[in-house]
Amino acid sequence: MASLPRVVVVGGSFAGYTAALKLASTLKTGSRDAKGEVTVISNTDVFTFIPSLIWLPFGLRTRDQITFPLRPPLESAGVKLVETQAERIDLEAREVITPAGKFGYDHLVIGTGPKVYFDAIAGLGPERDGVPGYTHSICNLDHAEDARDAWTEFLKDPGPAVVGAVQGASCFGAAYEFVLNLAHQVKKHGLQNKVPITYLTSEPYLGHFGIGNFGAAKKLTEMFFAKLGIEWRVSQVVDHIEKNQVVMAGGERIPFRFGMLIPPFRGVDAVTRSPGLGNATGFIEVDDGYRHRDHRQVFAAGVAVAVAPPAKTEVPCGVPKTGYLTEEMAKVAAHNIAADILGGDEVHLPFASIDAKCILDAGNTGVIMTADHILEPRGHAWLIPGPEAHWAKLAFETYFLATHKRGYV
Ligand SMILES: Cc1cc2nc3c(=O)[nH]c(=O)nc-3n(C[C@H](O)[C@H](O)[C@H](O)COP(=O)(O)OP(=O)(O)OC[C@H]3O[C@@H](n4cnc5c(N)ncnc54)[C@H](O)[C@@H]3O)c2cc1C
Repeated sequence: MASLPRVVVVGGSFAGYTAALKLASTLKTGSRDAKGEVTVISNTDVFTFIPSLIWLPFGLRTRDQITFPLRPPLESAGVKLVETQAERIDLEAREVITPAGKFGYDHLVIGTGPKVYFDAIAGLGPERDGVPGYTHSICNLDHAEDARDAWTEFLKDPGPAVVGAVQGASCFGAAYEFVLNLAHQVKKHGLQNKVPITYLTSEPYLGHFGIGNFGAAKKLTEMFFAKLGIEWRVSQVVDHIEKNQVVMAGGERIPFRFGMLIPPFRGVDAVTRSPGLGNATGFIEVDDGYRHRDHRQVFAAGVAVAVAPPAKTEVPCGVPKTGYLTEEMAKVAAHNIAADILGGDEVHLPFASIDAKCILDAGNTGVIMTADHILEPRGHAWLIPGPEAHWAKLAFETYFLATHKRGYV
């Protein structure tokens, strides 16, 4: 009997999980009529709902509340999960190299997300492997838990707080949500007089988000910040960070007792170790069908994909690749792999023209953001501020976790 086409998916989060389950349903994996095999290689066996990491440091969520095990939904869809680290991809041999062995593929999906690149700035990020670090991060669960411990200590002896996104960062939404939630917590604890809050960003103006000109985002964000007493500085370049001080490129020192700065992202080591797979920063250049430009059986989705900024900014800003955009890319990639295997037309969805759907939470209020296209030109870009945005985010979190842990993507 001829062997079935093998699809290997690296990463089991927004990109990898979505692609694997979409492929499972199209290829009927694990059934008698199966048209292919799908294997997920993931260095973790849990899915984390990353958008909730903005709340974890304030004690509003725990690890268990925002994660679910990957194995049961994948296995019940006939997808094999191998919990290991992809070390590199051998593009000639069409194999993923891991400590658990080599996994041959006919089609490959890279959904490995970012490497959080703290090394870009001395002192940035939490202390790690003997490298000193003085700020916190909420980019993954472990970092968010460290930030929670630091916040708990900070409340005993409060002082200035600095939040933001450094030069080259792209995940601006998380920085905004975190600073707004932090301001909300400061108010709840009655600490406004003790905790001056500074927001530092590489963006040319508030509400730029790395994409620019999103409806009334500038005006609205400035209004929120002014109301909450958050001081802001745009087009900022951080030179280095010392204990309790951010040192700016011009030499100015901004004191802090609690700091959370979003770092730049790079592609993961498994990509940079695989010549021909990624670009100089480790992101993968794909066409509008999320197919690698040179290696046509390789696909990528989510943060792993290279997206050029739509316009040059005074200080470099990356383009955010949100969870929603990631899932849309993953669905297109899965469709096109299935089309290769089963026959049928490819679909194309240029990144710039994916619609935007986002909720920016501010603790007890927020902003619902929606646009027909993530990048300009846009037909519309609407922002709806109000407490319903906070409730919508809570409802979405429940909906997402309830559906995804049962294998619905
Ligand atoms: C604090 C925060 C808040 C956010 N809030 C929102 C929001 O409200 N709405 C929204 O739409 N988006 C939000 N985002 C963005 C969203 O989290 C990302 O778009 C999404 O996680 C991207 O999915 P991904 O699968 O590409 O990457 P990731 O989610 O980073 O997943 C990559 C996966 O691959 C695994 N992996 C990496 N390398 C390897 C390897 N070599 N071998 C095996 N496995 C590997 C990783 O462990 C991980 O599980 C937020 C991001 C952050 C940081």
